[in-house]
Amino acid sequence: KIEIAALRKQFGQLVVLKDINLTVEQGSVVALIGPSGSGKSTLLRCINLLVTPNGGSVRVGGDSFVFGTGAKLPGTRELARFRANTGMVFQHFNLFPHMTALGNVMEGPVTVRGKSKREARELALTLLAKVGLSDKVDEYPSRLSGGQKQRVAIARALAMEPDVMLFDEATSALDPELVGEVLSVMQKLASEGMTMVIVTHEIAFAREVADRVIFMRDGLVIEEGPARQVIDAPREAATQAFLSHFH
Ligand code: ATP
Ligand code: MG
Repeated sequence: KIEIAALRKQFGQLVVLKDINLTVEQGSVVALIGPSGSGKSTLLRCINLLVTPNGGSVRVGGDSFVFGTGAKLPGTRELARFRANTGMVFQHFNLFPHMTALGNVMEGPVTVRGKSKREARELALTLLAKVGLSDKVDEYPSRLSGGQKQRVAIARALAMEPDVMLFDEATSALDPELVGEVLSVMQKLASEGMTMVIVTHEIAFAREVADRVIFMRDGLVIEEGPARQVIDAPREAATQAFLSHFH
């Protein structure tokens, strides 16, 4: 479960997130939609503390942090443990180029979780099978397609056995014919009960897979509700205007 309360973030004078409140129930999927610059990526990065909020609180599972004047910032070790529990998949895959698919997925469990090589290898093979890449375990990223790289990135995040998974436009950089294979892995995770927050421009996917949809603009949550209600019958004019671009 994720609970965000009164979250604020500014970069210099630019206030990017203004009092964001958000709850993601255990096992549910929330899709974040909104125009470019509305703060979606910043919100996702605040959830795993890749970006340090200026105010408010962030709770993921049993870990919670408070930000703002007087609040003590988390230490490096605390942060590392917290991030490992919050799997993140980016638009660009950020795989280690000098490691095979298997090596990429084994890395975190060995170095961060202290698993034995043998244990990490077993886990990595299972996860690569789950994302449909059993035949590519020994390939280097340069020899994988974009969709395959992104599926390795998902397996790598899952290898940390996170409580939640965050996806920031995981399919935006892919050729259209490769989008489906990544979305279907995400759909499978959702159906297995993974708690997920997805930033996406795939509105049909959000409608299908998300339990709730949140529409953001200018650092504010403008509208939030069940996926089909927000997408098929948005109440706010700003949501209607945004969604009209996708028809
Ligand atoms: P997009 O759909 O284009 O990915 P977004 O909704 O993800 O947009 P963010 O990336 O969160 O938007 O950016 C929100 C605002 O914050 C933008 O005005 C952006 O320029 C600004 N911003 C983001 N990161 C930084 C940073 N590190 N330093 C300064 N400004 C930033
Ligand atoms: Mg973004």
